[in-house]
Amino acid sequence: MNFLKIPYHLVNLRDYTAVGFRQGKPSISIVTSRGCQFRCTFCSMVPLYHQSWRGYSVDRLMEDLVELESKYGIKDFFFNDDLIIGDFKRFTEFLEALAKSGRDYNLGTPGMRGDAVLRLTKDEKAMDNLIKSGCKNLDIGVESGSPRILKIIKKDTTVDVIRRVNQKMSKYPVIMKYNFMGGFPTETEEEFLDTMSLGEYYKKKINMLLLRFTSLHQFQILRYLH
Ligand code: SF4
Repeated sequence: MNFLKIPYHLVNLRDYTAVGFRQGKPSISIVTSRGCQFRCTFCSMVPLYHQSWRGYSVDRLMEDLVELESKYGIKDFFFNDDLIIGDFKRFTEFLEALAKSGRDYNLGTPGMRGDAVLRLTKDEKAMDNLIKSGCKNLDIGVESGSPRILKIIKKDTTVDVIRRVNQKMSKYPVIMKYNFMGGFPTETEEEFLDTMSLGEYYKKKINMLLLRFTSLHQFQILRYLH
């Protein structure tokens, strides 16, 4: 993907703001990778990319960020990847490059999984770099508090992983955003309430969080049935 140069000059970037980490300051939403290796039954990435993932190199990413800063004064970046941590080594090297650069950046991404964040928390150096990189928020798709539903939707993670992530991240100044879904085929009221209780558990354990609920729509139900 490295050869693909983005013609930023074609758009007046100053007319747009993506994240608003710093009120009134320029920001941008960019994508550093394509696809995802996982197989969640409700996700459009699976038929689009067939469980494949590829991403820009760390050098290429740093070049883009420095260019966006020098030409447009942008220091706030929202990495709108589906799974920015699709290559764990690339992600930790990116964090290290950002931390070493000493640049005053603010970062956020929705492209995280609970198991990947848990792996990150076990690596002290990576966590140190995460904070030094200017990371302000991470979004995790929890989807359901029911082990049976997680299995049906092939999320390939557990409720316990999510609980541990929340516990470990509570000591870091990073806003955690947890995304939940409801209305899965065959989901019982009790299972939906398990999801709600998981949300309630987060609220009690940590105050730096945002909970989002999405109801499943027809397209996703059809995917499940096939
Ligand atoms: S991990 Fe996220 S991006 Fe990947 S298939 Fe599941 S929902 Fe989609």
